[in-house]
Amino acid sequence: NSLAEARRAAASPLFANLDGDIGVSFEFFPPKTEKMEAQLWDTFRTLEPLAPRFVSVTYGAGGSTRERTHATVARIAAESAVPPAAHLTCVEASRAEINEVAEAYWEAGVRHIVALRGDVPGGAPYSAHPEGYANAVELVAGLKAVAPFEISVAAYPETHPDADCPQADLDNLKRKLDAGATRAITQFFFSPDSFLRFRDKAAASGIDAPIIPGILPVSNVSQTRRIADMCGTAIPAWMVSLFDGLDDHPAARQLVAATIAAEMCRRLYAGGVRDFHFYTLNRAELSYAICHLLGLRPVSSAKDQAA
Ligand code: FAD
Repeated sequence: NSLAEARRAAASPLFANLDGDIGVSFEFFPPKTEKMEAQLWDTFRTLEPLAPRFVSVTYGAGGSTRERTHATVARIAAESAVPPAAHLTCVEASRAEINEVAEAYWEAGVRHIVALRGDVPGGAPYSAHPEGYANAVELVAGLKAVAPFEISVAAYPETHPDADCPQADLDNLKRKLDAGATRAITQFFFSPDSFLRFRDKAAASGIDAPIIPGILPVSNVSQTRRIADMCGTAIPAWMVSLFDGLDDHPAARQLVAATIAAEMCRRLYAGGVRDFHFYTLNRAELSYAICHLLGLRPVSSAKDQAA
């Protein structure tokens, strides 16, 4: 089976989805201003016809976007057939506060939560709220007690900075799944091999839930470096050198960005990966182009062609 996959991928360098077997999801952040809101909806409407399995909306540090995340997720639930997932963190919140947020989602028709511990704003070491969920494992169990949500959790191919060792991080992931989560979405990474090794180690640790790679299409290395440093993702030297000299060439940067991310997805596909989660940063073009290269087409035009 894997030989057949490798042959197919090799025969068609950038074009996968040969059996219509690729599933994608898109992540957005809640907009702050009217202009950003217009941009988000533009992005959403561009990506929506690709029929994502779900789209998710992040939750700002310590609940700072509580209302905006809710408003964005509820609008998607009301206006689109694409199922939305609401990110929810437990840092700096009591159990009662979290449960209330979760109940409001259930009432708004939202059935999928991405359950996260979160980080202390300002970068201080993590400590649990005295009346809160201590970590994501407890949060998952707590959400399941509120309502039968579908729950996704975070995974770290290059290990979470707080973890004692990679195996402890995997054991923590297994506890989150055992507590009721059904899939993991990874932190972004730039080495397909690190993801594939992580997936194999997870399987060897008894994890059989899907682990979906989080793909960050990068067109600005210095911006990405700041985020990558915080979450322990390595930025490879080859990537820095590919963007070298493109500071004044934004269009070329976009083309290089799409090529790098599409090549990463192709290698993941060759390794058996079929689901991809895109960190869109509320912009459609790169994610759309990469999905196109992966063989995805807008659902209505695919139907038109079949007719
Ligand atoms: P946990 O799973 O609780 O683990 C955190 C660390 O603590 C791990 O290293 C784990 O191994 C260790 N640990 C946990 N329990 C134990 C234990 N009992 N003993 C020993 N070690 C333990 N942040 C936001 O603020 N908003 C978002 O919307 C958001 N979305 C995200 C989406 C994805 C897909 C990802 C990958 C991350 C996201 N984050 C978000 C970031 C996330 O909140 C941080 O990475 C946070 O530091 C860890 O969250 P977690 O849910 O992985 O925590």
